[in-house]
Amino acid sequence: MSKITLINPKYSTTSGATLAPFQIPPLSLMKCAWLLKEQGHSVEIKDFQVSKESMLEWAVRCNADIVIVSTGQILNWQCPQSDISELDRLLSILRNRKQNIKLIGPHLLLTDFLHKYGEVLSGEPEGYMFDLKTKRDWDFSSTEKLYVNNPTDYFFPVLGNRVMTFEAIRGCSVGCDFCFQGMYITRKKALPNLISEIKEDVKAGYRRFFNVDLNFSLDPKYMEAFADGIAVLGIKWGAHATLTGLKNIDLEKLRKSGCEVLMVGIENRHQRGLPNKNVNEEFVSKMIKKIRDSKIKVGGYFILGCPNETKEDVLDTISYAKSLKINYASFQLFHPLKGTEAFSSIAENVVMNKYGLSEKYQGEIDHDWLLGMQKKAFWSFYFRPTYFLDNIGLLFKPRMGLNGIASIIRLKWRIQ
Ligand code: SF4
Repeated sequence: MSKITLINPKYSTTSGATLAPFQIPPLSLMKCAWLLKEQGHSVEIKDFQVSKESMLEWAVRCNADIVIVSTGQILNWQCPQSDISELDRLLSILRNRKQNIKLIGPHLLLTDFLHKYGEVLSGEPEGYMFDLKTKRDWDFSSTEKLYVNNPTDYFFPVLGNRVMTFEAIRGCSVGCDFCFQGMYITRKKALPNLISEIKEDVKAGYRRFFNVDLNFSLDPKYMEAFADGIAVLGIKWGAHATLTGLKNIDLEKLRKSGCEVLMVGIENRHQRGLPNKNVNEEFVSKMIKKIRDSKIKVGGYFILGCPNETKEDVLDTISYAKSLKINYASFQLFHPLKGTEAFSSIAENVVMNKYGLSEKYQGEIDHDWLLGMQKKAFWSFYFRPTYFLDNIGLLFKPRMGLNGIASIIRLKWRIQ
C-alpha cells in the first residue's frame, strides 16, 4: 500500500478569479482521500489554501510515494484561475525530486502546459481513485464518507468555523455564456444518500454545513425535500443558488430547516454582456427582499468589466452592490474562459498568458484600472457606516465575530 498526499495548492488571485471572504474544505479531494483510504493506502491532504506552512518549502521535503495535485480549487472548477505560476513552481520541485505525480483539475482541459509534470487524470477525479490510472464508473449518487484532517481551519460567514461542505447537484444546466462547464456532467445525488451523508457528519460532530453546488436551486422540489429531510437534525447550513431558482422555493421551509445564508450570482445591474442571465433589476430587488424577509442572509457575486462595459458601468456595479440590502459581496473581474460562448465572441480581445490560459479580456477598459476598482469595490462595500449598522448583529455573533473580521482582513491582503 502506498503513502499518498493530495494537494490543494495555494494560488494567486491577482486575476480576480475568486475573491470571497471564506475558506471551505476541499470536498472532492476529501472524497478522493476517503476512496484511497478504503483501499488501505496511507493518506494525507495538504490544503495550502488554509495552511500556514509554505507550499514550496514543504515540496522540498515531500517524500510521498504518490502525490496527487489538483491544479486549482476543484470547488471552483467553473472559474479556474489563470495565474498558475505557484503551481508551476510546486510541480517543478516535485518533479526534480522524482516524485510520482498525478494531476487532476480543470486546467488540464484548458492547457497542455502542466501535462509534462505527471500523469493526467482528466475530468472528474473520483473515478480514478481505484487504480490511479484508468477512469472507472463512479457513482456520484452513492453515499460516501470523507477524509478530513484539519476541520478547524475552515470558516464561512454567518455559519462560522468548523464548517463541513456537502454536494447535492454536480454541474449546472443554466448555461450562462461566461461559465466554464467542461469538467462535470450535471446530475444530482439521490436524496436519501445525501441525507444519510449529512447524518454521518452530524455524528462526527459537525453542525454547520455549506453546500458547494454551483446552483442548489436548480431543482426547487429537490431543495425543498432536502430541507424537509434535515429539519430534525438541528444543523445550520448555507448554499449557492440562483434567484430564478429560489423564486419557486418555499424559503420559510429552508429557514426552518436551518438555512442561514444563500449566495447568489447578481453580476451587475444591466445584465449586458451576460445574455443567459434572465433577470432584471426589479426582480433582483424583489428576490433579495423575499430572502431577507424569510430571515435568511444573502451574499451576492458581482462581475466587473464584462464585454462592452464602460467605466461608468463598472462604477455603477459597485454602487448597485451597495444599494442592495445584502450581507456579503464578492467582486470578480470578468474572466474569458476558453470553451465558453463568451470567449468565442471576443477571442481577438483575450490576452493569453505563457501557460496557454486566458489571462484577461482587454476591451475598452484598462485592466489595471479594473483591478483598482476591484479593491475599491471591496473597501467601499464592507467599510461603510450603513453596512456596519445593517450587519452589526453579525459581527458580534459568537461564531462570526473575530473570525469574520479576520477573514475580511485576510481577503484585503489577498487582493493587494
Ligand atoms: S447559474 Fe452560475 S453556475 Fe450556472 S451556468 Fe450560470 S454562472 Fe454558471
